[in-house]
Amino acid sequence: MVKKIVVLGGGHAHLLILSNLNKFRERGCRVSVVQPSPYHYYSGMGPGLLAGSYNPSEIRFFTQKMVQNQGGEFCLDKAETIDPIKRTVELQSGQILEYDLLSCNVGSFVPMEIVNPGAKDVFSVKPIVSLLQARERVRQLLLQGNPHLAVVGGGPAALEIAAGLRALTRAYPGTPARITIFAGHLFLSRFQERLREIAEQTMHSLDIAVIEGAYAKQVDTKKIVLNNGLVYKPDLCMLATGVRPSLLFQTSGLPTGLDQGLLVNKYLQSVTYPEIFGGGDCISFQPQSLDRVGVHAVRQNPVLLNNLLAKVKNITLKPFRPQKKYMLIFNTGDQKGILVRGKLVLSGKWVFKLKDRIDRNFMKRFQIPE
Ligand SMILES: Cc1cc2nc3c(=O)[nH]c(=O)nc-3n(C[C@H](O)[C@H](O)[C@H](O)COP(=O)(O)OP(=O)(O)OC[C@H]3O[C@@H](n4cnc5c(N)ncnc54)[C@H](O)[C@@H]3O)c2cc1C
Repeated sequence: MVKKIVVLGGGHAHLLILSNLNKFRERGCRVSVVQPSPYHYYSGMGPGLLAGSYNPSEIRFFTQKMVQNQGGEFCLDKAETIDPIKRTVELQSGQILEYDLLSCNVGSFVPMEIVNPGAKDVFSVKPIVSLLQARERVRQLLLQGNPHLAVVGGGPAALEIAAGLRALTRAYPGTPARITIFAGHLFLSRFQERLREIAEQTMHSLDIAVIEGAYAKQVDTKKIVLNNGLVYKPDLCMLATGVRPSLLFQTSGLPTGLDQGLLVNKYLQSVTYPEIFGGGDCISFQPQSLDRVGVHAVRQNPVLLNNLLAKVKNITLKPFRPQKKYMLIFNTGDQKGILVRGKLVLSGKWVFKLKDRIDRNFMKRFQIPE
């Protein structure tokens, strides 16, 4: 009989579970939620936070209050290891939580191997809250002069972060910052030509330089070394080099995919331990490889809620069916955006309006007053 449920991470795939904790409590279950921060930040609005268009309170969910309002236990802590045999989770504080059912949405991180330990003014794009620290530091640098701001990475996050930086610098017209994207081999290489053309035109119009054909091999305070030997001396560096799933599952010896994400079947259930579920960036979906985008995490919400409840009620699980094509909208600053869905690529002010509306509606669904 299911009595103890442990929920790790209040990420994008857990929001529906978190807002329905009473459904578990009604059935006599005790629910504990573990998260290293009282808040979870919505990544879709992260670049807008950096740009200064959103306040932190507009883009975050107050997980702690959400949980406690429903009588759940909130542990301001971090899961360090899972013991699937004893069915326990050890937290950073040393506390041990026992579970009958475990759901994991602990996300991903940007590997920092190329960054020298102790390097200053280097900010990773994850966790999203670090964009707030970067914003404050960029503001300080703008007050001191004309800084050179670097973005290392060649994907959509790099594009949005560079555009966000440009929007932020516009508030200081007297100090025109230089912005450079170090895009690796090719900017937006996994996307079609049409998107790359529009993105390049956009970067040009925002006076953002894009350097292709070489990867950053070392990042240090005011220093980027490329693998073709060139050295640059930016004042600040944002790292958007792609993400890897949390190492929690590998460390715990749980079955993982090649990318070290928790290996789950079509029910978002561990392939070996049927009482463990997972969603979002931290999983490796066995039926097919999934891009690490919030779109999948958001659509996994009803499946995770249903399947956790199904385990409590002893009824049938539902499969997760990823969308064949999904829509992404990149915030390019200046109230403009680029939309991509399959071969369709559109851009303009209305695109950003659409994104802003979708994002704000999503926030409204789960936000509670702080
Ligand atoms: C700048 C940027 C912009 C993006 N924009 C978009 C977009 O517009 N659309 C889109 O589809 N995708 C976007 N993405 C991708 C998107 O961020 C990810 O796919 C999404 O964040 C995955 O959600 P998640 O909940 O799995 O992970 P996360 O958002 O990383 O959340 C994980 C949660 O788990 C907690 N946690 C971490 N470790 C532990 C632990 N050990 N124990 C307990 N709790 C833990 C964290 O505090 C966090 O609350 C963007 C990414 C970036 C970097």
